[in-house]
Amino acid sequence: MSDLLERLRERGWRLTAQRRVVAEVLDGEHVHLTADEVHARAIARLPEISRATVYNTLGEMVTIGEVTEVATDGRAKRYDPNAHQPHQHLICTGCGTVRDVHPHGDLLAALPAGERFGFTVATAEVTYRGVCPDCA
Ligand SMILES: [Zn+2]
Ligand SMILES: [Zn+2]
Repeated sequence: MSDLLERLRERGWRLTAQRRVVAEVLDGEHVHLTADEVHARAIARLPEISRATVYNTLGEMVTIGEVTEVATDGRAKRYDPNAHQPHQHLICTGCGTVRDVHPHGDLLAALPAGERFGFTVATAEVTYRGVCPDCA
């Protein structure tokens, strides 16, 4: 579990009914939803919640570092509650399912000094793409 709700509670983040619903929708493993998907699931639990509230709440969770934004394939941004454990993504090119994965080795170290062009390199990300068992 991503324990997002618990983390928000521990930080003393004011959990209004609307914020709680957004956090509940994002809780779990391998959760990478677009804002529209979050909204669709949130209104199933709290019919009056507006799209603007969902967007604002997602933005605030990103600002405080409890949710990260994932850009996949230039499609809509996805929101990932697994914000504290470094991981990469495995994406199905058929249905768009996204899995959190943990490749071996140090991605930063994998970039040779000769290809750093004087940069102080801080982070690295890799996206694996393929076809999931359901789409195979
Ligand atoms: Zn698939
Ligand atoms: Zn992820």
